[in-house]
Amino acid sequence: MERLRLSRCDVGAEEKAAVMNVLERGYLGMGEDTRAFEVELESYLGGGRSVTSVATGCAALHLALQSCGLKPGDEVLVPSLTFIGCFQAIRAAGAVAVPCEVVPTTATIDMVDAARKITSRTRAIMPVHYAGFLPDSDRVYEVARLHGLRVVEDAAHAFGGLRNGVRIGSDGDIVCFSFDGIKNITCGEGGCVVTADDRVRQSVEDARLLGVVRDTAARYEGRRSWEFDVVSPGWRYHMNNIMAAIGRVQLTRLESEFIPARRRLARRYRAGLSAIGGVETLETDLESVVPHIQPIRVPNGKRDAVRRALHDDGIETGLHYRPNHLLTLFGAQRGLLPVTEWLYDELLTLPLHVGLSDSDVDRVLAVIDKAVELA
Ligand SMILES: *Cc1c(COP(=O)(O)O)cnc(C)c1O
Repeated sequence: MERLRLSRCDVGAEEKAAVMNVLERGYLGMGEDTRAFEVELESYLGGGRSVTSVATGCAALHLALQSCGLKPGDEVLVPSLTFIGCFQAIRAAGAVAVPCEVVPTTATIDMVDAARKITSRTRAIMPVHYAGFLPDSDRVYEVARLHGLRVVEDAAHAFGGLRNGVRIGSDGDIVCFSFDGIKNITCGEGGCVVTADDRVRQSVEDARLLGVVRDTAARYEGRRSWEFDVVSPGWRYHMNNIMAAIGRVQLTRLESEFIPARRRLARRYRAGLSAIGGVETLETDLESVVPHIQPIRVPNGKRDAVRRALHDDGIETGLHYRPNHLLTLFGAQRGLLPVTEWLYDELLTLPLHVGLSDSDVDRVLAVIDKAVELA
């Protein structure tokens, strides 16, 4: 039986031609493809927002937080059940991540718990669009308004999705996307910061190029900055022409190929799983969500047996995510977040990427069906 991968990219002849074109033109750094990709993203997302591309999704989170002017000891509310990149970005920005519970039906931040954790040091909330699912954005923005907090949305899983009928990224405070190798679209690696706040845009533009003031404008005119000033910390976090060229092709394939394929596979999983006793899906509105991963819940201590059965059949699975509050760097605080901890013990991520066929999904379902019964 063919091995089924958990996730993978879909790049082909068009992406190859786009990369070759950059190589033939001979300027591989940040330049016209980078700018063109940003303009195309701005028009795709809508809402009159600016898009600033960066080297990775984690760089996007880091620079978004830095643009909020966090001071040492400032606190950021974030679900513990997320990619380690969120916690490291908060730490890199000099702030303290305050791990919050998630709502078990959607695995997104529990705003009742988060609101209880607000202190005089709280400066921002980082809701995560887990699997592409929507955090309770009304509550997030209401709490933010009441307490004067910034919102940095980790929408790494949510590119192409809708919220209240408009694209995620077309509204909100600061929204960060990732274009790494397995995301809804890829640049190889990459990410972007989307905002209507011009100070945030300026801060991110400068910080991605070592803090060199207005170096972005110079580069987009094909110049280098020689007599420059630096007023704030910065990194080499920009996106180059090769990455952008791949992303530009991927963006043209998103609505026609990637979104329909992801939704079709997720629907098939949902229909199949609903017929299997002993496993649960999370709540998703597949009209608006573009499913990025396919998490399920396997209760009653059967998760690991199901995982083993899938493994033995050549089917890769994942655990999204090991709660960050259990990690040594973030305090190893077992017992701190009971809901997150039991949910993590039941969560299992099934293969989901556009290269899967309907019969691949049926094969996964058949193994689960048998394994749950035997476990
Ligand atoms: C992918 C991802 C990111 C960003 O990761 P990069 O690999 O740095 O692009 C951030 N948050 C979540 C939840 C992710 O899955």
